[in-house]
Amino acid sequence: MTAPDDAIPKPHHRGGKFQNPENEFVTKSLAEVLRWRWDASRRGLPPAPQAPIPCVAPDLAFLHANARAGRGMLPAVTWIGHATVLAQLGGITLLTDPVFSERASPVRFAGPKRHVPPGVALADLPHIDLVVISHNHYDHLDAQTVDALYAQTGGAPLFVVPLGLRDWLARRGIQQAVELDWWQTHQMPSPMGMIDVMLSPAQHWSARGLTDRMSTLWGGFAVLAPDCHLFFAGDTGYSRDFARLREHLAERQRPENGGGFDIALLPIGAYEPRWFMSNQHVNPAEAVKIHRDIGARRSLGIHWGTFELTDEALDEPPRSLARERSAAGLSNDDFFMLAIGETRRLPRRGANRDSGADGAHVSMSDENE
Ligand code: ZN
Ligand code: ZN
Repeated sequence: MTAPDDAIPKPHHRGGKFQNPENEFVTKSLAEVLRWRWDASRRGLPPAPQAPIPCVAPDLAFLHANARAGRGMLPAVTWIGHATVLAQLGGITLLTDPVFSERASPVRFAGPKRHVPPGVALADLPHIDLVVISHNHYDHLDAQTVDALYAQTGGAPLFVVPLGLRDWLARRGIQQAVELDWWQTHQMPSPMGMIDVMLSPAQHWSARGLTDRMSTLWGGFAVLAPDCHLFFAGDTGYSRDFARLREHLAERQRPENGGGFDIALLPIGAYEPRWFMSNQHVNPAEAVKIHRDIGARRSLGIHWGTFELTDEALDEPPRSLARERSAAGLSNDDFFMLAIGETRRLPRRGANRDSGADGAHVSMSDENE
């Protein structure tokens, strides 16, 4: 793990807590929360979904064989639901923000309930080597799930979390954890060599209760393996952070080194009403801007279809994304959706310019940068 770089200014550290340096997060007043809830109930929001959320049976044979393949692993992403993605790259299997519980809530009897079961059941997961957690909101950090993963057969995964969350894990008896500040990197050995796991800035906030607002950090993760560069944005509003991320990795992601992120996992849901949500959650138009800002070869839209958290219909984000994608001149493959449970295999980094099965749209997205 690299030491903290004291040369990097830390405008996001504020008296033992954290803050977004450019667009300060101001907690909504009770009056604003009530106005949002009252408006939503008066207008009957969110509308019911027009169609069931697409789900498919997972390809467990592939996921398990790929997890054991070592250097022969094929980079692949599988959407489990909401912000939970099972990614296989660099010979390791990782989970982003694993939530497998029935509710995204501090209690089991109330709070947002999942509309769709996890795309892969906890008991069916291959061995997980790494868990990255973007922040402590209940739809991203779930105590029961974390405990179950810690107790998995074959040994606990490594947990990589933003500043402040190592203590939270330690209180649950989990020692195998690394916490990072923005721009810090943890190096993890893998069958293909070192994998860099870097925490990157995001425009968001944190809290699990009424008294711990902004006490732990939030962020996204760049996971850089020899065969695949993955970006997981966590929860975020739109900000300069993404242009900055591209600058930060410019040398590492020069075209001759394989170019930008091979896959970005970007949130596209939980954005209405804008007056309430825009400083914490992007809408699909802004997700497309992030895709462009970071120079991703392709992106997967996540953080939708699972928990009803806001005023847009559960199935509206992909429709809105489709409109924004064509307005931006992107193809379906440049910024795609998966069914819950579905796996997308990705070309190996460096093979991107080959005229392989995936070659056509990949070379198109090269020109978008
Ligand atoms: Zn959040
Ligand atoms: Zn969220």
